[in-house]
Amino acid sequence: ISNNLLTLADGNQMPQQGFGVYKITDHTEFLQSIKAAWENGYRLFDTAQMYENEQFLGEAIHNLAIPRAELFLTTKVSEANQGYDATINSVKASLRKLQTDYVDLLLIHWPINTEFFDTWRAFEELKKEGLTKSIGVSNYSMVHLQYLATQAHEMPVVNQIEVSPYMSQKPLLKFQQDHQIVTQAWSPLGRGKIFNDPTMMQLAAQKHRSVAQVILRWHLQNKIAIIPKSVHANRIAENAAIYDFSLTEHEMKIMDSVNKNHRVSKEPELVY
Ligand code: NAD
Repeated sequence: ISNNLLTLADGNQMPQQGFGVYKITDHTEFLQSIKAAWENGYRLFDTAQMYENEQFLGEAIHNLAIPRAELFLTTKVSEANQGYDATINSVKASLRKLQTDYVDLLLIHWPINTEFFDTWRAFEELKKEGLTKSIGVSNYSMVHLQYLATQAHEMPVVNQIEVSPYMSQKPLLKFQQDHQIVTQAWSPLGRGKIFNDPTMMQLAAQKHRSVAQVILRWHLQNKIAIIPKSVHANRIAENAAIYDFSLTEHEMKIMDSVNKNHRVSKEPELVY
């Protein structure tokens, strides 16, 4: 991995590539995955209250004796914990599970009606108190971001959304770039659904790379942050080995052409 750092609007820096831990719930598998990721140079780990594995992540970091200062930890407040008090209390519980005094990035996992104003006020307070370095959101549409802007003192510095060649999100990406909001892609590999795409397979063969590597490289060149997930050490290493080749403008355009606006998950509902 090359620890490319992106500078966020609040001045903090975030590794462009990290490791997502969604659905890794087996204790041993969890420890092995974090160990493989750490050894391959991953420094950003992305969890969430909803994943119910913050405790495992805290234990893995402790067992591997990883110095906290070398890590970038993200967690997300679940839908059930939105609202001012619930947010504050749940983040304190997350920190205990993660065995740390602060996270680097705190995200609202999912937009949820008018409560996100209260959640966001709690985020601004948690940042002031040093319990998180940066604050952001996840699964927000342009409308949600504009709505949040009507009451926020500080705007989110990151929006973590589904992006892959099958769900390329160009209009939202452009909007976020214009508003200094870093896009972090979840399911950057389209959860594996793009691996058999004929256009992608042909391009990957020409580049002597795997489809996964070509997809991740496309994200990097689009200035998108990525958090691919795998529990296999060989794939964790493969996903990190994307800094010694590049895609031409023409190849980037070919990849843009496979977009289907196809989500792997539900569409974020609009507020009101
Ligand atoms: P992903 O796109 O990272 O794909 C993961 C799948 O691809 C796994 O099944 C894995 O086995 C396979 N894979 C990974 N590397 C591979 C390789 N080199 N070759 C072949 N197969 C490979 O999907 P994801 O896990 O859904 O997303 C990544 C992370 O994003 C999650 O772990 C989580 O941290 C985050 N996430 C966030 C949200 C949100 O709402 N904010 C939603 C989903 C995921």
